[in-house]
Amino acid sequence: MMGMLLEKSSEHAAVGRIVEWAGQCVQCGLCLPVCPTYALNRNEAESPRGRIAIAAALARGQADPTAQLRERLDHCLGCLNCETACPAHVQYDALLIETRSLLGPPPRRPRLLLSLVKRPAWLRTLRRIGRWFALPRWQAWLARQLPTHSAWRAALRIMPTTAPAARARSRGKDAGQPRLALFPGCVASVDDAEAQQAAVALLQAAGFHVSVLPAFCCGAMDLHSGAAQAAERAASQVRQAWAGSGATQLLSVAPGCLGTLRRALPGVSVIDPLELLATHVGQLHFRPLERRVAVHLPCTQVNVAHSDGALLQLLRRVPGLQLSTLPRPPHCCGAAGSHLLEFPARAAQLRDDTLRQAATLEPQLLLSSNIGCRLHLAAGIGEQGLPWTHQHPLTLLAQQLEKS
Ligand code: SF4
Ligand code: SF4
Repeated sequence: MMGMLLEKSSEHAAVGRIVEWAGQCVQCGLCLPVCPTYALNRNEAESPRGRIAIAAALARGQADPTAQLRERLDHCLGCLNCETACPAHVQYDALLIETRSLLGPPPRRPRLLLSLVKRPAWLRTLRRIGRWFALPRWQAWLARQLPTHSAWRAALRIMPTTAPAARARSRGKDAGQPRLALFPGCVASVDDAEAQQAAVALLQAAGFHVSVLPAFCCGAMDLHSGAAQAAERAASQVRQAWAGSGATQLLSVAPGCLGTLRRALPGVSVIDPLELLATHVGQLHFRPLERRVAVHLPCTQVNVAHSDGALLQLLRRVPGLQLSTLPRPPHCCGAAGSHLLEFPARAAQLRDDTLRQAATLEPQLLLSSNIGCRLHLAAGIGEQGLPWTHQHPLTLLAQQLEKS
């Protein structure tokens, strides 16, 4: 029925693209074994192939966007394991974004909560107020008073109890150094500020000048929820900030932001700082650390940033670390942007499976690069009373950096 709802020529064009991309799917099913939502209950409609068929049927007007069909699409984590595995190179990410954009934001979307989360200044203020009223002491109790499926309950459960670190600052020795711009993002600028400081320190040690851009949301959560206008406003803010930076490359310590930043800035090199650091590894020397470390590789780090190899290369330079990676697909931790707020029970199921795998490695420390994944996993570590700490890998690397 989507065909009947189309009003603009841009929407007709989007429908054409969805039908064309869906037509590239040869229905081989090779994507099914790597799909975390298919792994949950072996339901074809919750698989990449099933979702492509649903998107095509909606676009052709052969099906109505019922609540049930819509939920099949909304359950998708956007992990892109399927796109990586697909021999026909179906552009699943683009297909899903266009389909969601035509459908509009899902009914379960916690708009008020997301508008708060996307504003770093509000988030910092709220965290400060929470600490004045000793929120960390009654946070768990308060979360339990809220309905099980409430997005606010999920948000309270993942909110860190420690005070956020100060924002990263621009650093570099002289004007002759290559200039990089660091994109702080929204939640990451507050809860990953330490990792951003670490990135700046490591890049400076490797000979770069880093300027830190203003903190705001890249629009990833809007883009992947069908809020196309809000996503475009964010993209335009990204372009403006980039234009004023004078830098040659844009960096983000949160792999979850990279895809959206690249989409906003076609032709610009937008990368994970780990990639850059790995190419300058000879300039970095690390002090030993005897620790058993489990490395969680976020889906976006593997499928979008492609910086998993660089990460492991750098960590292997720290003498004494006993590194093990968690098995990859179909294991997504379930955080997936706002998925953990919209579908907390499903997100917890995926997270607990990830933590079970990590437990087999008997780690003392769990590393994960993506802020959403780390907050989600940290909440599980806390709830289950697991004896591990957690960190962004950049924080560990900066902490072990030998100062020259
Ligand atoms: S692997 Fe690609 S072509 Fe095969 S079913 Fe999945 S999306 Fe379609
Ligand atoms: S993006 Fe991930 S969750 Fe969504 S269909 Fe592909 S493999 Fe499954």
